Amino acid sequence: MLIVGAGPTGLWLALWLTRLGVRVRIVDRAAEPGTTSRALAVQARTMEYGDQIGIARAMVQAGVEVESLNFWTGGRRAARVPIRSIGEGLSPYPFPLVLPQDVHERLLIERLGQLGVKVERSIEVTRVEQDEQRVRAVLTRDGAEEIVDAAYLAGCDGASSTVRDQLGIGFPGGTYSGAFYVADVDASGPTVDGSVHVDIEDEDFAIVFPLKAGERVRLVGILRDGVDPDRELSFEDVRGRAIAHLQLNVTAVHWFSTYRVHHRVADRFRSGRIFLLGDAAHIHSPVGGQGMNTGIGDAVNLSWKLAAVLGERAAESLLETYEPERIAFARQLVATTDRAFSVVTASGGFARMVRTRVVPALAPTVTRLTVLRRLIFRIVSQIRIEYRHSALSAGRAGGLHGGDRLPWVELSPGVDNFTPLSSLDWQVHVYGAARGDLQEACVQLGLALHRFEWVTKMAAAGFKRDALYLIRPDGYIAWADAGADPSQLRSYFDRHRLTVARQFRV
Ligand SMILES: Cc1cc2nc3c(=O)[nH]c(=O)nc-3n(C[C@H](O)[C@H](O)[C@H](O)COP(=O)(O)OP(=O)(O)OC[C@H]3O[C@@H](n4cnc5c(N)ncnc54)[C@H](O)[C@@H]3O)c2cc1C
Repeated sequence: MLIVGAGPTGLWLALWLTRLGVRVRIVDRAAEPGTTSRALAVQARTMEYGDQIGIARAMVQAGVEVESLNFWTGGRRAARVPIRSIGEGLSPYPFPLVLPQDVHERLLIERLGQLGVKVERSIEVTRVEQDEQRVRAVLTRDGAEEIVDAAYLAGCDGASSTVRDQLGIGFPGGTYSGAFYVADVDASGPTVDGSVHVDIEDEDFAIVFPLKAGERVRLVGILRDGVDPDRELSFEDVRGRAIAHLQLNVTAVHWFSTYRVHHRVADRFRSGRIFLLGDAAHIHSPVGGQGMNTGIGDAVNLSWKLAAVLGERAAESLLETYEPERIAFARQLVATTDRAFSVVTASGGFARMVRTRVVPALAPTVTRLTVLRRLIFRIVSQIRIEYRHSALSAGRAGGLHGGDRLPWVELSPGVDNFTPLSSLDWQVHVYGAARGDLQEACVQLGLALHRFEWVTKMAAAGFKRDALYLIRPDGYIAWADAGADPSQLRSYFDRHRLTVARQFRV
């Protein structure tokens, strides 16, 4: 298995595949890992995937759990919204985590190293071709070419993907006219406090993100008319009103960059034995901090399917479910971040009024309402992503459908229904009592059966008492059956030509 690109998408794919027992080779044309903070927001769904492979705790330790979201206008704080536990009861990670991308990537590289996988650097993939049996890639290092044969290839090579170009897959969309600046600075002032601060002015907009305890923060803002983003700019070009309004006293600038925002989704995410993931497949505005997390979701989705096919535990047709499951969300995301980006950057009178008056006035009230607070968390954290329309999804029990993410239920402090997901295997969950013949069917199929004592909050999470939930290795419900019928369980595995990976303990 060859992975092209060792950004977050390629590294997560390599980690999951390695944990699933697949031998991978991961190459990157860059001589060194990235050293800039780029994507900061790590969403709860990503942390849940991290939990499954044992890296979530290290990620939390290396990052900042954001305390609150603050809105500033006219040089004063107009609203403060506590978000440290905004997703309480919905995920073991109820907070937005800020983790700079370079720190995140280093952590993944370190974990891969512990598992015996080293990222091979200064290697560029210049050509790829395939037939029905193999993929052939041309790797170039210092002008010398190496030809590599692999069973499958994952193009995790970013927005200007060579793999996508080689496949001739279109990347339709466009580029917004405006541009952003980003700066990592040392600063002091009331907005350097472990929280996120958004300054919204008539003609200006800036956000402060905490980078780590102390005085380092990330500043993001919009380059307004009159500032040419294609000219070489420096922090002095943007040290403007918004920064003054945020009362930031900047003492050192560590990184400054400007970038244009694109919105594109590849026409296809798969061609034969070659897959596109992450920015190679979809790019959109950074509003909501979704981009990198979506790439990680692609990687997890593909990893267990590839592992099953390579391990001859599934028919190759399983791989056909990758694109429909992931492309639908990417398209929807581009449309929604598009709208949000337009509101944030629009300069018309109405948009200005929404930004400077309506948002700060409504935000605290809206987030005090539990229903709305939970809805916002579900959307932003990506726990709401579902695959109900996938060919792999079937059945319904209680409020849960095949294709839904398994809801999280805390049973006692530190004990929850996500713990068994670290096996990265198919498994059956029953909330309540399990039929005797179900136990037998699970043993025959080689499936672990996890039974959880019924508590009323399970109903609130959508579970039906005594029903059967068949869970995929990535924590999504594949099939739900209120009657917990073992014969239906067997026919699910027959229909999809699946077998289970390893031995287990009931
Ligand atoms: C300034 C900035 C700020 C951002 N802020 C956010 C944010 O706040 N939130 C968010 O979610 N996202 C943000 N993003 C986007 C985020 O960085 C990307 O979504 C993320 O890096 C995508 O990861 P990836 O692994 O898919 O691709 P990349 O990180 O682009 O990695 C691709 C890798 O492939 C390698 N490569 C490319 N071509 C080849 C080849 N032919 N052969 C071998 N190797 C190759 C590259 O060297 C690179 O290491 C930001 C991006 C930038 C630039």
